[in-house]
Amino acid sequence: MTATTAITNIGTLVTNNPDLGDGPLGQIKDAALVIEGDRIAWAGPTAKVPATDDTHDAQGRAVIPGFVDSHSHLIFAGDRTEEFNARMSGQSYKAGGIRTTVAATRAATDAALEANLTHYLAEALRQGTTTFETKSGYGLTTADEERALRIAKAHTDEVTYLGAHIVSPDHADDPAAYVALVTGEMLDACAPHARWIDVFCEKGAFDGDQARAILTAGKAKGLLPRIHANQLSYGPGVQLAVELDAASADHCTHLTDADVDALANSDTVATLLPGAEFSTRAEWPDARRLLDAGATVALSTDCNPGSSFTSSVPFCIALAVRDMGMTPDEALWAATAGGAKALRRTDVGHLAPGARADLAFLDAPSHVHLAYRPGVPLVSEVWRAGVRAA
Ligand SMILES: [Zn+2]
Repeated sequence: MTATTAITNIGTLVTNNPDLGDGPLGQIKDAALVIEGDRIAWAGPTAKVPATDDTHDAQGRAVIPGFVDSHSHLIFAGDRTEEFNARMSGQSYKAGGIRTTVAATRAATDAALEANLTHYLAEALRQGTTTFETKSGYGLTTADEERALRIAKAHTDEVTYLGAHIVSPDHADDPAAYVALVTGEMLDACAPHARWIDVFCEKGAFDGDQARAILTAGKAKGLLPRIHANQLSYGPGVQLAVELDAASADHCTHLTDADVDALANSDTVATLLPGAEFSTRAEWPDARRLLDAGATVALSTDCNPGSSFTSSVPFCIALAVRDMGMTPDEALWAATAGGAKALRRTDVGHLAPGARADLAFLDAPSHVHLAYRPGVPLVSEVWRAGVRAA
């Protein structure tokens, strides 16, 4: 028999299942959850909770699904404090700053890269993130990309090969040769360690034709596509994401009406990363426009040392509500169920029976406080796969 635990006296429970409670978030007041092993076995009012082996009193706190952070870059070394400081002192962000991190990452030992990764994963977990994706992209040689993915794979199932982050400085004079490497020898070495393939489709990185070649080569090796699209300028990335049935087009800051329509009529999630606009003092993505058109929106941190050095999903929720036109309910959904859709996962991002028992307790009566009380560490307890993890 698998042990069962009831979590009782939940002030407001967000299940993300409209069949279980009120509204699109399936909210239940005075709620309880039953966990059996690593799964949710039951969700409903505390007054109706079935008998269990153990009970855990939430004491009126809100409980939400653990955040699904579907976009981060955590295999890196070094620091870009000076670049941030300069940018906040008036300089503009360009894609080339990535080269600083590439040099530091290549010089780091495997142990140093892994220690850095686990440091930021623990930081994210304490803030309620129970599922995270992370990428390579700061090695840009076959050996350095392969080791980044090998290190990441020991800590998450959601690993993305991003050899096409920028053209390697070693091939600055011959981008076509670098695309050949990324789609050839490097792909062969990296594909066994990754689930996803990604490309930074942007002026100064890879154009639409290069991005199509890279993602198509990855698909042929069994990798699933996702794209850094339309971050710094209008471009072909979003349309390419839809054409290739990418799980997600990430950033989506500069969209034409045709881009919005394409997303709304596809299974490609628009993943918005407001930490990047915050940290580069850039124009916000328009979440309201995407939602009103019927697109599926996810929120994620883009945690990386250059353009968005935050691991805090609650911070991103607060920005999305304050500056991107999302309601608190929409932002919470986007950071949980939306993230799960952006990773094509059905076992996380919700708390219906059968889901993985990944949840965060908030020192607040409801999830609305994540935006209402920005910057306050409201996550007081985190469970992952049925076990208290933070
Ligand atoms: Zn990114």
